[in-house]
Amino acid sequence: MPQPRIGVMGGTFDPIHHGHLVAASEVASQFDLDQVLFVPTGRPGFKQDRAVTEAEHRYLMTVIATASNPRFMVSRVDIERPGLTYTIDTLRDLAVALPDADLYFITGADALMQITTWRNVDELWSLARFVGVTRPGHELSLEGLPADRVSMVEVPAMAISSTQIRARAHSGLPVWYLVPDGVVQYIGKHGLYRGISD
Ligand code: ATP
Ligand code: MG
Repeated sequence: MPQPRIGVMGGTFDPIHHGHLVAASEVASQFDLDQVLFVPTGRPGFKQDRAVTEAEHRYLMTVIATASNPRFMVSRVDIERPGLTYTIDTLRDLAVALPDADLYFITGADALMQITTWRNVDELWSLARFVGVTRPGHELSLEGLPADRVSMVEVPAMAISSTQIRARAHSGLPVWYLVPDGVVQYIGKHGLYRGISD
């Protein structure tokens, strides 16, 4: 059997939205991926300034959002690892769990441009290829990054953000069609973001 090609989409997913899903679908199509694994973070290292919603809620919203796509799966590796989440740990754990897979780490292009500041950058290149998603018309230069390990893909729903959805939910504005229907209902059922204004 050829090596399975697996996309890895890490994120806080607080909440998951159609931008994430469109990006995963677009990268899966362009790179002929067999599967995309969504990996909700434990405690993200760089978001300690804000109270992130409990991991179990973020995990369940991610499961609900991806349930209808047979190629989308959700991994608990980051939730179950104690401490802050770093991409190097995510990729090391997945490389052990999926030793035959070719991993494609999907991330916002702006985050990807910071990759040289990430932990263990040389090991990162050896564990996965990296796909940066950008807004159409905002092609970023890949200068300084290894051309055989990094690509960019334009995705059309980049304007959606979890920050905007939390703010809308907080203000009682609709979030329908920004997130999957089941996620709208989950947010309402558990009263998420009522107390959060950022
Ligand atoms: P926040 O507003 O809280 O920062 P977010 O919308 O950026 O949340 P994250 O969970 O931080 O969502 O993002 C997970 C991954 O998805 C990151 O790599 C991020 O760059 C990417 N991403 C975020 N929004 C979009 C979008 N609209 N389209 C494609 N990718 C996105
Ligand atoms: Mg973000």
